[in-house]
Amino acid sequence: MRFLRLLLVLAAALPAAGTSAAPSARVDNVVLVVCDGLRWQEVFSGADPALLADPAASGNARTRADLERRFGGPDAATRRARLFPFVWSTVASGGQLFGNLERGSRVAVTNGVAISYPGYHELLTGRTDPRIDRNEFGPNPDATVFEWLNTQPGLAGRSAVFGTWSVLADLFNPVRSHLPVRVGPTLVDRADSTPEGRLLAGLYDDSTSLYGSNAPDAFVAVALRRYLAHHRPRLLFVGYGDTDLWAHMGRYDLVLETARRFDDYVAQLWAQLQALNAYRGRTVLILTADHGRGVGPVDWREHGAAHPGSADIWLAVLGPGIAALGERHDVPSLAQAQIAATVAAFVGRDFLAAAPGAAAPLGAALSAPGR
Ligand SMILES: [Zn+2]
Repeated sequence: MRFLRLLLVLAAALPAAGTSAAPSARVDNVVLVVCDGLRWQEVFSGADPALLADPAASGNARTRADLERRFGGPDAATRRARLFPFVWSTVASGGQLFGNLERGSRVAVTNGVAISYPGYHELLTGRTDPRIDRNEFGPNPDATVFEWLNTQPGLAGRSAVFGTWSVLADLFNPVRSHLPVRVGPTLVDRADSTPEGRLLAGLYDDSTSLYGSNAPDAFVAVALRRYLAHHRPRLLFVGYGDTDLWAHMGRYDLVLETARRFDDYVAQLWAQLQALNAYRGRTVLILTADHGRGVGPVDWREHGAAHPGSADIWLAVLGPGIAALGERHDVPSLAQAQIAATVAAFVGRDFLAAAPGAAAPLGAALSAPGR
């Protein structure tokens, strides 16, 4: 078992062997981007034609016609490429995507709750914990993979966390982890006295939050862009959240708008990284969600144990050494909990040595062909 585990770690850390990857593949950095509650259905099939046509979900006739023109289409391939142009060009052509249940690929939330805090906890710590069953849990008792990597030689002080959801501060527990966590009300750098920094802080203060003390997604994208102009984190977590909020409000039109922007934010981030020597050709990008949602004309809005489908998510991976297999199909099921050790394995670290109960990294899944 230990030997198998070592092989799995090596398979992720040195994925060049036995795959179509370049022999010189080397990963120095990992960027993990989560889009809160973005369903696999939209990722793989684009805008849902039934919800697009539903006035209760997508607004008046004019709005629906506009959405149809921008995100509609005769087939899933057309619609998804319109909704996620970066994912379905750059990521799909150079990396891999998992989670299309219609094609025999599943990424499973295993915490049994399928709400946000337990989802982020699962994907960040590699474990599930029955105590963690609510968003109001408070400071995370378990170390995230980012917290552990932040103690490792060569990686100490090289992580950063950005996000919209204020509760992400509890999950990353900066009091204990000493991670720089800029989420919700701490997103904007108040010490930035440049004209741009003051403008951003002023705009932030004058903007209406969609929910609680969450930061709007656009501020995360801009604050992160400015941060990367001056810092070179090797481990980066980014959490976008507007998609989940609009879904809970029943606004499918704005779920589509914010999902489309999410794709743009990731495209811009990837372009910024590829323009920097420290990142170009040395960075793995992981995209995923914290939970799925229900299905059908009403249940798509909600998620949790009472809403079937909430435990199905998606995962995309792009970077050096990762075989360009595109959308995976007819492959073994993956677990959300595997993401934590995968982040560590990409930078050559064995998270399971520090967290024995954590799920194994995805190494084998990324190199094994489907049926
Ligand atoms: Zn969520």
